[in-house]
Amino acid sequence: MVDCQWACPAHTPVPEYVRLVAAGAHAEAYLVNWRSNVFPGILGRVCDRPCEPACRRGRVDGQPVAICRLKRVAADLKGDIREHLPKPPALRNGRRIACVGAGPASMTVARDLALRGYAVTVFDGSQRAGGMMRSEIPAFRLPASVIDEECGHIEALGVAFRTNSWVRSLEALLTEGWDAVFVGTGAPRGRDIDLPGRSEAAAHIHVGIDWLSNVAFGHVERAARRVIVLGGGNTAMDCSRTARRLGAEEVHVIVRSAFEEMKASPWEREEAMHEGITIRNMMVPLAFTQEQGRLTGMLFGKVRAEYDASGRRSLVPTGEAAEHVACDEVLVAIGQENSFPWIERDIGIDFDDWGMPVLDRGTLQSTRPEVFFGGDAALGPKNIITAVAQGHEAAISIDRFCSGLPVAERPAPRATLTSQKMGIHAWSYSNRISEDARHKVPTVELSETLKNLRLEFEFGFDPVLACSEAERCLNCDVATVFTPPACIECDACVDICPAECITFTQDGEGDDIGLRARLKSPASNPDQALYIATGLKTGRVMVKDENVCLHCGMCAERCPTGAWDMQKFVLNDNRANAEAMTA
Ligand SMILES: Cc1cc2nc3c(=O)[nH]c(=O)nc-3n(C[C@H](O)[C@H](O)[C@H](O)COP(=O)(O)OP(=O)(O)OC[C@H]3O[C@@H](n4cnc5c(N)ncnc54)[C@H](O)[C@@H]3O)c2cc1C
Ligand code: SF4
Ligand code: SF4
Repeated sequence: MVDCQWACPAHTPVPEYVRLVAAGAHAEAYLVNWRSNVFPGILGRVCDRPCEPACRRGRVDGQPVAICRLKRVAADLKGDIREHLPKPPALRNGRRIACVGAGPASMTVARDLALRGYAVTVFDGSQRAGGMMRSEIPAFRLPASVIDEECGHIEALGVAFRTNSWVRSLEALLTEGWDAVFVGTGAPRGRDIDLPGRSEAAAHIHVGIDWLSNVAFGHVERAARRVIVLGGGNTAMDCSRTARRLGAEEVHVIVRSAFEEMKASPWEREEAMHEGITIRNMMVPLAFTQEQGRLTGMLFGKVRAEYDASGRRSLVPTGEAAEHVACDEVLVAIGQENSFPWIERDIGIDFDDWGMPVLDRGTLQSTRPEVFFGGDAALGPKNIITAVAQGHEAAISIDRFCSGLPVAERPAPRATLTSQKMGIHAWSYSNRISEDARHKVPTVELSETLKNLRLEFEFGFDPVLACSEAERCLNCDVATVFTPPACIECDACVDICPAECITFTQDGEGDDIGLRARLKSPASNPDQALYIATGLKTGRVMVKDENVCLHCGMCAERCPTGAWDMQKFVLNDNRANAEAMTA
């Protein structure tokens, strides 16, 4: 399995598009992405990047490939790809599907099902499609034009959008004869904080996600001079950076936990600090201070973390005096909650004790068979790529439900393995190993970016930098495949391998740990299974440490009998729209 592809919830074939970016084939790279993750331009800017910690390059030189930002390159440089996008079938299948909410989960369901011939209508209470991608993620990270373009691709498939249309009763919607309903309404309620002084100073205290959407829609245009942001997640980072752009001179993000334990991604923290925002940790809010309704600051208790035998953390007062931090405005960014006031509780949809719908986790079907959930509405707030992945799963479920097939039986993914040999010393992929460190994405000057709320702060890689970064990829999908009967045990591959990851050794000596220690270069990552081949003429085994293999193909070039080959593994998740995507 390819680590980055597997770590991506939508299983985007990363090395495939990274090679296309290196080759300057940006439109093709975009289309590879679009098939699996639907929003390459959006995700290339703001994805939470679960693929990058999994990237094997990180294990080789400590720095993963900048996978996310290479996606942005494909999106920025693709040109007009509209005519290359798949088209829905000329004849619809007669089924009507309603999606509630126009965030990434519903939009994915709509795209997959429209391509399969369904008539899909998406309802949203907002003026434009995009969900929180538009209302919460600030424009300096994600310009509206990118959201417009990628939502536009879905609208062009014949999906009907009913914006400015809040669904106020699911019971009423269900009487309209839809074949299935998908609920993708997100986790719209921001948590508030109830402390002394909260009600007196209410005019200067805002729930972060409400404040961000008010900024996005132009209802808030200024921040106060001194702002405190409560919370340590990405919403707190967005609030603080937005406040700086709206004129705040002094912004403190104040967090209960330690810096290393903060939920915000490391890069979001770095960017906030680069913009002059201070992050203060191990401080618990105690009270708002105010004078006749004018907020003057907040009181914080100092704590330290203590862990019990099971590793559970508790925050214990240090005994120091409470600290007063002066401010004129507070933004509360301490989490989001789900809320379904529009779903009646007596229509066959069960909710658990936490107010979440009871769902089959594999199919996302609710206890009312024709109603499915996905994205933040299904399992609580997460991120865009998870919403997309759940949208794909829900689309498969809806398609099977409407076709009278068992929803729990899922179509198997398709996988192929093909040799990359083009000649004795030539492979169909670039196997030169770049020694470059990870390239930094160029950004706009700080003085410029802080002046303009809507100016995108990153330029993105130019084609030359993109190519250099793409060349850092180790092509993990091109696997070394070993055929024992062809091996004459000459050790040529052992001698040539620059990573020293091939060992021929006696079989059966010691357990896995003993075997790892005996390898030419001991295999230190126990999470990575060893590649072990039996069936050699001498009875020995070939053991390869996949953790550090560079996929350079030198073993296969050097091998005199062709016992080694480099073969490309392609995994295609089966989706509701599989035929349209391969047409
Ligand atoms: C400040 C902030 C920053 C974030 N930054 C990132 C980031 O950088 N990267 C990332 O991957 N994720 C980020 N996220 C999370 C991400 O935005 C969400 O996980 C994702 O948008 C969830 O998608 P969804 O389709 O489930 O729902 P949402 O995007 O929440 O969309 C739900 C839609 O449903 C509509 N709706 C709700 N109820 C009704 C109703 N009754 N009738 C009609 N319409 C209704 C809403 O108007 C909304 O448009 C961020 C979230 C926040 C709050
Ligand atoms: S090196 Fe390339 S193929 Fe391997 S995990 Fe990283 S991005 Fe994926
Ligand atoms: S491809 Fe072959 S030669 Fe290259 S690092 Fe991997 S095992 Fe060694």
